Amino acid sequence: MTDSLEILYNEVLHCRACGLCEGRKTVVLGNGAANAKILLLGEAPGEAEDKSGEPFVGRSGKLLCELLTQAGFSREQDIYIANMLKCRPPKNRNPKPCELAACNGFLQRQIKLLAPKIIVCLGRVSAQSIIDKGFKVTVQHGQWVQKDGVWLMGTFHPASQLRSPSQKPLAMCDFAALRTKHDEIFA
Ligand code: SF4
Repeated sequence: MTDSLEILYNEVLHCRACGLCEGRKTVVLGNGAANAKILLLGEAPGEAEDKSGEPFVGRSGKLLCELLTQAGFSREQDIYIANMLKCRPPKNRNPKPCELAACNGFLQRQIKLLAPKIIVCLGRVSAQSIIDKGFKVTVQHGQWVQKDGVWLMGTFHPASQLRSPSQKPLAMCDFAALRTKHDEIFA
């Protein structure tokens, strides 16, 4: 059978491969344009996401939309947004390596199905998994690397920007760099 986001969602919905299935209200696969060239990849669902089943809602989602709009992107039309983990860690603690490993097969299938040309990692957990296991967001944010034909860049997680507002102008520069990279590739 040909794989699809719908098949993937149904598998994630019933997944019990790690302990996070015990506390979840629902799963969060991702949303946005399935044909988007850009994938934004966060860490894990938070409380509002766990209730709604949608990634990046609440204050973090609002800030992310603001950054996208300022860079001239539409969240609905230009971007697909997902997380490394599809279920919420209790009290929003950091994902454990065993949880990331358990969920990685879903993420890899999702990336294959979406086939993005650009992946932007939101925060350390995502950047260390996708770009470089020693990635330091404060040092390497906004830097581009290319792997297997996909452009990768890490920046500050919106929740981190809300806690440390001095990160926001840096993230704005990174999203401006995303615009530039997008236009270079697709102009
Ligand atoms: Fe399954 Fe991933 Fe949820 Fe763990 S986080 S239960 S691996 S879908």
